[in-house]
Amino acid sequence: MQTYKMFINGEWVDTESGKTFATINPSTGEELGRVPQAGIEDVDKAVNAANQALPEWSKMTQSDRAKTILRFADLVEEHSEELVDLEVNEHGTPIMLARGFAAAAVDQLEYIACISRGLMGQVLPQSIPNTIGYLQRVPIGVCAVITPWNVPLMMMLSMIGPALVTGNTCILKPASVSSILGVKFTEILEKADLPRGVMNLVTGPGGSVGDALTTHPGVDMVRFTGASDTGKEILMAASQTVKKCVMELGGNNPVIVCEDANVEKAAKLQAGRHYGNSAQNCSTPGRYYVHENVYDEFVEVFANEVKGINVGLPWDEKTAMGPMASLQQLEKVEYYIKTAKEQGARIVCGGSRPSTPPLDKGHFLMPTVVADCTHDMTIVREEIFGPAACILKFSSEEEVVKLANDSEYGLCAGVWTENGSKAMKITDELRVDSVFINMPRMMTPEFPWGGNVRQSGVGKSDSVCGMEEFTDLKFICKSYS
Ligand code: NAD
Repeated sequence: MQTYKMFINGEWVDTESGKTFATINPSTGEELGRVPQAGIEDVDKAVNAANQALPEWSKMTQSDRAKTILRFADLVEEHSEELVDLEVNEHGTPIMLARGFAAAAVDQLEYIACISRGLMGQVLPQSIPNTIGYLQRVPIGVCAVITPWNVPLMMMLSMIGPALVTGNTCILKPASVSSILGVKFTEILEKADLPRGVMNLVTGPGGSVGDALTTHPGVDMVRFTGASDTGKEILMAASQTVKKCVMELGGNNPVIVCEDANVEKAAKLQAGRHYGNSAQNCSTPGRYYVHENVYDEFVEVFANEVKGINVGLPWDEKTAMGPMASLQQLEKVEYYIKTAKEQGARIVCGGSRPSTPPLDKGHFLMPTVVADCTHDMTIVREEIFGPAACILKFSSEEEVVKLANDSEYGLCAGVWTENGSKAMKITDELRVDSVFINMPRMMTPEFPWGGNVRQSGVGKSDSVCGMEEFTDLKFICKSYS
């Protein structure tokens, strides 16, 4: 079994302590390989390296940094089979989906490189004669990038790409369960000829390695994606040295299906998208509110679609849904389904693990539809983050808007109606960062994601807005009298 290394100051190294831990193939429960378990002293070296590399990297021209990211995009394309292989084996992503992620990764990197050359500052209106005052975009500095396990490759590059291109230096800490993919990602990035110390990788648990990064005085910014509770811990830790924090956190996203919606289309498209990546996506709807007059039709069409989903080993080309990424996450979703049953919900399909080989060995859960839910049920109140969809009934628009907004999250929402003005009225009332009308959530690099609604995040990601988060606006005033 291979033991991997971390990347600090341009070299592949072991930890000072020599400790390692295993990552597991979620389809088989077998060990895939071992990675270093970093300690405070390793984090310290990585932060020092990033600080030393900062002056040179931040002063490089924007066009040279953009070219480095374009080289990286080419390398990702060249190495996409290895990346796909790891997404499949370390995360359990079905191979067809993993190939889509690899192609999207190249596209996103090209986008990042291109728009970076259009980032602008601002000249301010003159109020003192013979002076010019302007805002110049400058990098924040040393950026700790802490990623979740749920879409591992896309998460890493969507944060590391814009951080580097804008002149910051980085220390990546991938989620423990996706550590080997973090190593491969860094190996590929190394080939793009980055100066020493610009990109560093440390691996290990969030509680120790993540904490060492977020409390380190040499780190200027934390770019984090993960659970809201972890985000709160990081905000507290980072506040001691007043770091900039940008965070994409949890969601419990409502989708509203009105009486006048195209119900069949809504049910088919939403069901078709819901279980991709085993519904381990922050944008997956947590609550479908369906008008009482079209409720039965929606549940029937939705469940029929779900029954047709091919659950299987992720390396099988026919598989549409693979395992969950970890046993811990599987058990959490099983707990939500159990409490939903106890609280009176109806399991229309799924609800259990497959019992026949080979799926009985991995972290599989059959795609589940939970109907007749009520707003107070645990499964409706909390973020499920797994393959179970909750369906609830509503009777008026006023009621459904209130229910949709009654959440500690506010990441995104969906609205289905054939009435254009109703769609806009509901959209205006929803307290969320993004709304998708008559479509499930779609991602492209141009679209921003996240924002500042309730406990779903701080700051934007993706698009130009997400890139600007990695820059500060330095004010300069010059007299020419
Ligand atoms: P998590 O919060 O458990 O872990 C995320 C990362 O934080 C991991 O690398 C982990 O090791 C690290 N970490 C854990 N404790 C830490 C600490 N005290 N200090 C520093 N780092 C620490 O999240 P997860 O289980 O990997 O991911 C699932 C969550 O991520 C869900 O809540 C999901 O909604 C959220 N998410 C949100 C978005 C979004 O765009 N809003 C996208 C993807 C995932």
